[in-house]
Amino acid sequence: MSTDKKMIYLDNAATTAVKPEVLAYMMPFLQEYYGNPSSIYSFAGISTKAVDQARDTVADFLGAKAKEVYFTSGGSESDNWAIKAAAYANKSKGNHIITSVIEHHAVLHTCSFLEKNGFEVSYIGVDENGVIRMDELKKAIRPTTTLISVMFANNEIGTIQPVREIGELAKEKGILFHTDAVQAYGHLPINVNELSIDMLSASGHKIHGPKGVGILYIREGVKIGPFIHGGSQERNRRAGTHNVPGIVGFAKATEIAAKVMVENAEKITALRDYTIERILKEVPYARLNGHRTDRLPNNTNFCFRFIEGESLLIMLDNKGICASSGSACTSGSLDPSHVLLAIGLLHEIAHGSLRLTLSEETTKEDIDYVVDEVKKIVDRLRSMSPLYEDFVKSGKEM
Ligand SMILES: *Cc1c(COP(=O)(O)O)cnc(C)c1O
Repeated sequence: MSTDKKMIYLDNAATTAVKPEVLAYMMPFLQEYYGNPSSIYSFAGISTKAVDQARDTVADFLGAKAKEVYFTSGGSESDNWAIKAAAYANKSKGNHIITSVIEHHAVLHTCSFLEKNGFEVSYIGVDENGVIRMDELKKAIRPTTTLISVMFANNEIGTIQPVREIGELAKEKGILFHTDAVQAYGHLPINVNELSIDMLSASGHKIHGPKGVGILYIREGVKIGPFIHGGSQERNRRAGTHNVPGIVGFAKATEIAAKVMVENAEKITALRDYTIERILKEVPYARLNGHRTDRLPNNTNFCFRFIEGESLLIMLDNKGICASSGSACTSGSLDPSHVLLAIGLLHEIAHGSLRLTLSEETTKEDIDYVVDEVKKIVDRLRSMSPLYEDFVKSGKEM
């Protein structure tokens, strides 16, 4: 890949750049301190100590105890583990699970796997902003419900869910509550006790840490089995030699995120709102997807009628702009995003979506350049669309 051309990276919901401080912190554990934390000699003790420290950092960030933090290979594993293990561990109590229609595929596909294996799953709908319907959730609870899994914030449209309310409801009913917080962790304050969260997934590469490492928080007393069987690592609950560089990198990224979270959220939210205002004002027939204010600080998601999202992405790429049309997992398939359909968009409108997700590195100049290009490209694509021509001639309103 050529890197001499200026690149503007606005796909931070898909993955993020590793921070130099994070990489620097990881390097010794890739080189000189390669000891296996499970070994006895003092050389390995350096690795053991680093992993222990990392666990403390993560626990502090979540208001949890160190022994409630389990290192995994990332968000997908944490989601799989939490949901499958909770389902099987509580099978004698019941076989019913509740989730939402807008979850990440790591949750949705895990649930459909369970459906094929004797479990029943209720998928709760969302309103036009992508907020879960609490009345529907309450009604879905059965005596056999053992788990509610609802994401903290959506990866496509950024909408933040009423996690506290869901946590309180689950607690009151004696049901386990898992939240996929991969998009929220490091961006929003999270206290697992205040929010009554029993299990929480997070991932390193979404917070300027390395790929292939994540955590599952499991509240003390929640009895779920291991997901990876083998050695006795992670309190006998997640086997496999510790990914020491990944784990310390995750913790460093967490530490930095915690330090700059409030300041960054303010700065990035201002730039997000500027992006939204410019697009809605300057691109005709554009709509914002997701809640106007209850959304992740860095997320914008739009639909442009009479446009194919794929064409838009390719033309933006030609201008050095990395963006997305929904989730990384749906690109390559022709189906529109399940999230955009769930908020009530028609197929043809959902197809013309654009997600721009910012980072603290994003500047106003970047946004101005991107919005100018989006305007030009949307114009050009529409000028080639017979549907758009008919629409304009008909003089109809949207
Ligand atoms: C990225 C993402 C995941 C998957 O995390 P990985 O670490 O890439 O496996 C799960 N859930 C959400 C909401 C995500 O954004």
